[in-house]
Amino acid sequence: MNYYETAQICKNGHVIDAVNELSDLAKSFCPKCGQGTIIKCEQCDSPIQGRIHIDSVITSNKLERSPAYCYNCGKPFPWTVSNLASINELLDLDDKLSDKEKDVIRECVPDLLAETPRTQVAVVKSKILMKKMGEDTFNAVKVSISGFASEVVKKALFN
Ligand SMILES: [Zn+2]
Ligand SMILES: [Zn+2]
Repeated sequence: MNYYETAQICKNGHVIDAVNELSDLAKSFCPKCGQGTIIKCEQCDSPIQGRIHIDSVITSNKLERSPAYCYNCGKPFPWTVSNLASINELLDLDDKLSDKEKDVIRECVPDLLAETPRTQVAVVKSKILMKKMGEDTFNAVKVSISGFASEVVKKALFN
């Protein structure tokens, strides 16, 4: 039987581990940042999908990265909400980009954090504009995006 384990993730997006609710591996708070942890979507109560078991074989050691959105209701998880908010704040602080350019990046960010049909366009657009950002903003935005984007997006944007 193939099934997903439930993942436990802190509200800042650190993957604690793939656990089931009764496991003694479960942690109420994140050892990395002290935030409370969740195993369910807070909007619709669906369990957060962790590792996949295929014929009882665990396919990976640990969930590679936290999912950005709930597969069941489509709402962003708490770490996605705060990540989007902090990227917005960083863009506000930047004095090199025009307001219009900042808006273009704001529109791209959700497609950088999740795989969508717009991801490639978002990568190309934001790559061009990020070159115009102030260095401090760029470095901070890079950290925010890198924490949650896929390897493919990170490579395309920052290599
Ligand atoms: Zn944490
Ligand atoms: Zn949900």
